[in-house]
Amino acid sequence: MQQQDFDYDFLVIGGGSGGVRASRVAAGLGARVALVEAAQLGGTCVNVGCIPKKLLSHAAHFSQLAEEAKGFGWQLAQPHFDWPTLIANKDREIERLNGVYAKMLAGAGVTVVHGRAALSGPHSVVVNGQTLTAHHILIATGGTPRLPDIPGAEHAISSNEAFHLPQLPERVVVVGGGYIAVEFASIFNGLGAQTTLLHRRPQLLRGFDADLGLHLAQEMALQGVSFRWDEEIQSIDRQEDGLHLQLKSGEQLVVDCVMYATGRVPLTEGLGLDKAGVRCTDKGAIEVDSRFGTNVPSIHAVGDVVDRMALTPVALAEGTVVAHELFGKGGKSAPDYELVPTAVFSHPQVGTVGLSEESARKRYGAVQIFQSSFRPLTNRMGAEPENVFLKLIVSKADQRVRGVHMVGEGAGELMQGFAVALQCGATKQQFDATIGIHPTVAEELVTMR
Ligand code: FAD
Ligand code: NDP
Repeated sequence: MQQQDFDYDFLVIGGGSGGVRASRVAAGLGARVALVEAAQLGGTCVNVGCIPKKLLSHAAHFSQLAEEAKGFGWQLAQPHFDWPTLIANKDREIERLNGVYAKMLAGAGVTVVHGRAALSGPHSVVVNGQTLTAHHILIATGGTPRLPDIPGAEHAISSNEAFHLPQLPERVVVVGGGYIAVEFASIFNGLGAQTTLLHRRPQLLRGFDADLGLHLAQEMALQGVSFRWDEEIQSIDRQEDGLHLQLKSGEQLVVDCVMYATGRVPLTEGLGLDKAGVRCTDKGAIEVDSRFGTNVPSIHAVGDVVDRMALTPVALAEGTVVAHELFGKGGKSAPDYELVPTAVFSHPQVGTVGLSEESARKRYGAVQIFQSSFRPLTNRMGAEPENVFLKLIVSKADQRVRGVHMVGEGAGELMQGFAVALQCGATKQQFDATIGIHPTVAEELVTMR
């Protein structure tokens, strides 16, 4: 079949971060593009991920500000928080963004098809009972929360439902120790719920520099989050006074809400991968090469469904690579996964780029560590005794900075600039030669000796 015999040059399954970016870039390069979306445009990030999470996280920090303000002479009336107002305003903003996405795609000339797509061959998908054909297909179907298989699991929620709870629960248990668990524990706690984070390990944020998890847990505890370490829920039983949790340790907890944040799995169910012969890894992710091609030459895959690094900017970068590869001159580099900066929007935030101390020692042997923990100036007069933690990792032989890590407010904003420095291969001497901005927390990172 010739390219013009297909309905489209490019058919994208999934209108989330990766799919929308790939469609827009491909259409801009002259391809005839269709995008199929089963739910709302914008995918996880816009509807049940980054965006609503950041809004809830921002909402949660006002309780801390209200406390802090007292030390600066403010006598504020007893603050009152209203969850339905927050959720309604958040939903309005998400709806606005859904509209922005629809306009953006229409403006780019992308045909949007609403429905659930399943592959029926290497060049065809079925949507709403209709077959659409395309020269190239991109799978960008993202991921979905993974909940445990325990008695009473149906009483638990994931982050998807947390965004739509009718009321703020009074007592909540968040299970897990990764991004979503610490972000939501901070949200619930900041908004006034009695919050417990229950984790199967003794420490948060596995895979990050170990000091970040330790410091974050200390700070979250100071803000009122309770921790249950090395603990698991064996069963959940709904009774009149709440959800009764039977813990592995033998203890029982009674709460109003249990939220699992125990990871996400690639969303490939019902996608008809077998019809097209697309291969998956043993973790259920779509197997791709370094240019995001699957084992079927006409099918590519990007984003959370390929299980590399589940972050929006990564899915965007991968989608751009594929569109240029197929319809442009190619040559767009795939992201350097080791230098992807990331922030955890807990309270306080965590920001990080580059290698953890453990990985740097494995890779480079001799490394130098510079670290500092202090109470920033603006926290000295308030009630909140929050300490900032900063850490630089330098490989001794060439003096290059291999990792920059921080726990503290603003860590997300601050880390973006340091990611550029690491991308440029900055050395410790270049950090030292950089003049600080005074008085800021960030200046510490260029004055560490
Ligand atoms: P998605 O955005 O998940 O999009 C996939 C789309 O495909 C969905 O819209 C889905 O409905 C659609 N779809 C699935 N199957 C089909 C089908 N068969 N037919 C048609 N359509 C289909 N990342 C960050 O960088 N920063 C953050 O702060 C951040 N916060 C997060 C908070 C939470 C609570 C969660 C869950 C994730 C967060 N992430 C964050 C991760 C980020 O949201 C994802 O990495 C990103 O959305 C992945 O994009 P994607 O295009 O791969 O998939
Ligand atoms: P993570 O992989 O970050 O964390 C999952 C956590 O659940 C880990 O602490 C893990 O423990 C624990 N866990 C896994 N399985 C079980 C189990 N069976 N029982 C008990 N605990 C378990 O996943 P998240 O769900 O937090 O987030 C998914 C991804 O979404 C993140 O990895 C990130 O890429 C992205 N994201 C990004 C955000 C951001 O950029 N700010 C925010 C939110 C999500 P263990 O360490 O023992 O494996």
